[in-house]
Amino acid sequence: TIGLIALDLSGNITVGVSTSGAPFKSPGRVGDSPLPGCGLYADHTVGAAAATGDGDKIMCYCPSFHVVQLMRQGSSPNEACCAVLADIQRRTGGDKCFEIGLISLNMKGEVGAASSVEFPYAFWNQGLSSVEERVVNQH
Ligand code: ASP
Repeated sequence: TIGLIALDLSGNITVGVSTSGAPFKSPGRVGDSPLPGCGLYADHTVGAAAATGDGDKIMCYCPSFHVVQLMRQGSSPNEACCAVLADIQRRTGGDKCFEIGLISLNMKGEVGAASSVEFPYAFWNQGLSSVEERVVNQH
């Protein structure tokens, strides 16, 4: 999955995802990516989040919605991503956690990410001359 979150100077925020679903493709499969709250979620008063990984498992946890809810309650984007990942890991039994990566952005332009596997993502804002590649270490 490619997840993209964009915030403009007028305070509009959006999130989109594109996925082949190829690793798990079977006829009729939906996966997490197109499901609001699972593969993506945005609220223009709070921020947005997107997920990648094992969609059939991700669908059970609504992690993108959960990240945005935690940001609504005062968490930074990074705290929110880490808390949602930790909650899923606790519920799945720690090191048996499936593959999941989360990214988030709030209305201040702050970024967060957490992942159960090493996970690269790209970041750009107007102060940067080029896109920065960042890597989230496995949690
Ligand atoms: N989440 C996607 C799916 O299950 C796969 C992916 O992230 O690569 O369809």
